[in-house]
Amino acid sequence: MKLSIVVPCYNEEEAVPVFLSAVTPILERTGLDYEIVFVDDGSKDSTVKVVTGMSAIYPETRLVELSRNFGKEAAMTAGFTYASGDAIIPMDVDLQDPPELIPEMVQKWQEGAKVVHAVRRSRETDSWLKRSTAGAFYRLMEDITDVKIPSNCGDYRLMDRAVVNAILSFPERNRFMKGIMAAAGFKATQVEYDRPERAAGHTKFNFWKLWNFALDGITGFSTVPLRVWTYIGGIIALFSFAYAFWIVTKTMIWGVVTPGFATLTSVVLFLGGVQLIGIGVLGEYIGRIVAETKRRPLFLVGALHGFDERGAGPSVVHLETAAAARGTF
Ligand code: UDP
Ligand code: MG
Repeated sequence: MKLSIVVPCYNEEEAVPVFLSAVTPILERTGLDYEIVFVDDGSKDSTVKVVTGMSAIYPETRLVELSRNFGKEAAMTAGFTYASGDAIIPMDVDLQDPPELIPEMVQKWQEGAKVVHAVRRSRETDSWLKRSTAGAFYRLMEDITDVKIPSNCGDYRLMDRAVVNAILSFPERNRFMKGIMAAAGFKATQVEYDRPERAAGHTKFNFWKLWNFALDGITGFSTVPLRVWTYIGGIIALFSFAYAFWIVTKTMIWGVVTPGFATLTSVVLFLGGVQLIGIGVLGEYIGRIVAETKRRPLFLVGALHGFDERGAGPSVVHLETAAAARGTF
């Protein structure tokens, strides 16, 4: 049995050595064969040099070097494509996913679980803002999607080979991994942990990235935002009928009263705003349809390091062929 750890890295030169020295002894203790597949997500610092340098000390280190920054989700998919283990664990390089959980996860996997989620006991280490926005996001997701997306776990989980192959068979470019995991199903269990602060370096996510991440999640797994406009329009139309009726009645009783500039302006502006929001929602979906129909590769590999026993791989991996190609390069 072999375990693959998949580690996406973006400008993480400081964190890589700390990560390896913390994770390797724990992996050794599991008694399983293992490999650590780093994915360099187009780092601008010397992450690649650090990882390849460290492979002299840690021979089980592999590196998939992407041609540019594709984002964490695509980087993880690249890692899954090249990892050869019977079980795969994606981990952040900053040790916020505590490696001490690995033996417990492996044990649950050996007992038959196909997925072992690492679930956060609390979100105390997050800021108040991140906590409350995340809470609102997951409540909304719960209301408008059919899939059940767990709110307090990240990407840290153990997945059986069967699950990884299933994930790779999802053809969409939008890799909202939590949604894909939920849509894939499989027998899951969980282990609990407290999320520590980042060990080295600083966070790569800003408000804008998280906002787009949330939009990807919603548009990828729900059509409620598209359909809700029928009802909003219906309600507004109903109100306008009632209002028209009121105006007619008023005019018949008291005659014509011309003032009404303020009412008119606010109604026109309100409706204009509502229509623009509706068009904006359409735009969010259409933009994603464009991205999906182009069917561009999800990631491009610049170079592979440490995979020599399987020869040099293709530098372009289309997701459709990824599952089939695995093992043959
Ligand atoms: N990451 C990546 N590509 C990106 C952004 C982040 O591969 O475009 C990696 C990053 O190197 C780290 C993981 O994703 O290993 C989580 O990032 P970070 O710790 O910055 O996120 P946070 O824990 O603050 O949510
Ligand atoms: Mg982090």
